[in-house]
Formats: sequence, structure tokens, C-alpha cells
Amino acid sequence: MFMEKVILIKYGELSTKKDNINFFLKKLKENILFALKGMNAEVTYDLGRMFIHTNENFEEVIKKITNIFGIHEINIGYIIDSTDFNQIKEEILKLLKEKEFTTFKVESKRSNKNLNTTSVELSKNLGAYILKNIEGLKVEVKNPEVLVNVEYRCNNTLVYFEKITGLGGYPVGTLGKGLLMLSGGIDSPVAGFLTMKRGVKIEAIYFESPPHTSNEAKEKVKSLAKKLAIYNNDITLHVINFTDIQEAIYKKIPHEYLITIMRRMMYRISAIIASKRNAKILINGESIGQVASQTLTSMSAINEVVKIPVIRPLACFDKLEIIDIAKKIDTYETSILPYEDCCTIFVPKHPVINPSKEKCVEYEALIPYKDLIYTAIKNHEVINIKVGEEATEFKDLL
Ligand code: ATP
Ligand code: MG
Repeated sequence: MFMEKVILIKYGELSTKKDNINFFLKKLKENILFALKGMNAEVTYDLGRMFIHTNENFEEVIKKITNIFGIHEINIGYIIDSTDFNQIKEEILKLLKEKEFTTFKVESKRSNKNLNTTSVELSKNLGAYILKNIEGLKVEVKNPEVLVNVEYRCNNTLVYFEKITGLGGYPVGTLGKGLLMLSGGIDSPVAGFLTMKRGVKIEAIYFESPPHTSNEAKEKVKSLAKKLAIYNNDITLHVINFTDIQEAIYKKIPHEYLITIMRRMMYRISAIIASKRNAKILINGESIGQVASQTLTSMSAINEVVKIPVIRPLACFDKLEIIDIAKKIDTYETSILPYEDCCTIFVPKHPVINPSKEKCVEYEALIPYKDLIYTAIKNHEVINIKVGEEATEFKDLL
């Protein structure tokens, strides 16, 4: 009889994806191995559970995988290489004898239908055995100090006690790729995080306007990208020099339309980069009503220049809700650093709240924007941002 201590992973919502479950699991395994690069670890899965087999420090391993989407629960578990109830009971007793506690409860799950009994009976039977063999214990149904989870499977048995809640969502990469419009603000990193949670791998695009925007502003965006890279297995950041376009707009176009036209240009460029990189959606941090460019009329006038779907995960969030997530994913402190971004410099006194699409087209004819866009894309910089050593630690997020 053999018992192995493992890290046990539950993937919750994934288990409803019947047809392509293997594709999801393969990706999840790949993402876990990526996070554990350089460590001695093997990942296997069967019968609804994934396992990390490793002789590394479990705490270190768990720290690295808490940021992986698609993991709903992490447990330190034991695989008992037996389906014989008497043997199982003995092994569990050994494990419990190493713990200090007075109250407990047993929960059983039975995928091995050959056991001629119910899960409830198994729990009762094991509970009675524990009470008989360890002195001073009590069963406590509501808030037990130790929850003894036992899963009776066809070829072996799993036992685990405490659980750590994972991030949930889908493994990044299972839903294709998207391009995140990443400014240095609070909103866009949160929008990126939420989209990755749905399994979308992201690349990011940032518009800078040197010398009107500083190198610090760019560094800030890079460090935000680095924080997002943790969930994304690294991240590619496209930096677009927007100066000529912005100056042309500023010189030629009535100022109340500056932001509208500028954002139409950003959308156009983003759509082209997305198509070159095989990204199927644009993602941004727009939230209905937050600023003049985010009224419904503005969004409609801006959105009409692209065909690619634009996903706005924060469309219906309050700023405070957004800030709350930004703090949890540790982007907030970076986002509030006071470096100007390219919009703030050219903000007009009275931006139009209800821009007309016809006027946008009329004004855009005043600048050679196609040439400017072509040049900006031709000269754009690509930065590959690697996951840093420091992984954010947090639990019970979302
Ligand atoms: P954020 O807090 O993310 O900066 P915001 O509230 O400042 O958002 P806007 O400046 O109107 O709002 O921008 C809306 C969205 O447009 C941003 O969330 C981001 O996705 C995108 N965006 C704005 N400026 C840039 C930029 N310089 N580069 C890339 N994307 C940008
Ligand atoms: Mg902004």
C-alpha cells in the first residue's frame, strides 16, 4: 500500500465543458507547468481531478499557482493507492494522528459505485472509527476544526483537509487572444484581468506621445503590464508613438472633438494591430458615463470606425468597484502614480458629450490620418514582458 502527498487541484466550472474538456485541461496543465518553470514538478489528471506531483516545498509551489485562472480550489492531498475501506481508514487515522484538533467532520464523495453503500454511510463509518481510535474528539457539523474529505474513486482514494480558494475562471489561452488597450490608469489593467479570467490571452497596446508624455509614464505602463503578465504567461506590449497624430489633430480639428477623434484613431490602430496578431477582440477600460468620451453617443461615434468586437468588462462597474479589484490585483498603487498620459495633455476645456458621426468624418478629412496611422504602425515598438519573480498573493478574489 502506497500513499503519496500531492497538490490537488479542482477545476470547478471547467468540468461542465464536456466536449472539449481535454483541450481545457491540457491548457491548464501547460499554464501550471509554465508557472512552475525551473521547479521539479509533474502534472497529471484523471477522473475530474488534477494533481501536482513534486518534491519541492509545497508552500512555494502553491504560491506560484494561486494566480492561475481555471483553478477553483487547491488542496494539499494524499492519494491512497487502495480502494479497500479498512486500509483507507487506517491510513486516514495515521494522517489525523499527526494533527492537533478536537472537532472534526467527515465528508465523502463516491465515484466508485462498486462500494455497496452510500456516501453518508461511508462518512458515518469512518467518523465512528476515528472517534474510537483518537481520544477526546467530537464531531462538529457546522464549524469543524478539521474537515476530512475523502473521495472514493475507482482505482484509488483521495484524502484532503484544508482548501485554498483559487481564482476560478478559464485557463488563459483557451478562449483565444485579445488586445488590451492599456493606459497607465486604474481601469484598463482591471479590464485586462477580468478578460484573462474568461480564458482570453492578452497582448497590450499603449499609445505614448513623447515629449508630451514622459518616459516615466511608459515605465509605469510596463510595470502594469508586468503585473498582468502573472496571469497571462508573459505579455507582449505594443507601444505606438502617437505624437504626430495627436499634434495633427490638435492643430487642425475643433477642440471639442479632440478626444473623440483621438480615440477613433486609437481604435483604428488597435484594430490593425489586433488583426496582425490574430487577436479576435479589443478590450478597454471604458465605463458608461465615466467621462465625456464614455457617454453612449460618444462610444457609438468612436466604436463605428472598427469592425472587431470591443469588449468593455467595466462598462457597468462603479469606480469604487473597479478600485477594489485594482487593489486586490495590486495594480492600484502603480496606477495612481502621477504621470500624465497622452489624453490628459490634450484634454479640451469642453469636450463634446454627444459627438456627431458626420462631423467626425468631416473633421478627420482635415488631416492625412491614413498616412499617419501607417507610419505609426510601421515604427511601433514591441516589448516582451516576462513574469517577474514577485507573484501577487491573494485569496478569495471575486
Ligand atoms: P484608465 O483608468 O484605464 O486610464 P480612464 O478612466 O482614464 O481609463 P480614458 O482615458 O477615457 O479612461 O480611457 C478609456 C480607455 O481607453 C482606457 O481604459 C484604456 O483602455 C484606453 N486608453 C486610454 N488611453 C490610452 C493609452 N494612452 N494607451 C492605450 N489605451 C488607452
Ligand atoms: Mg486613462
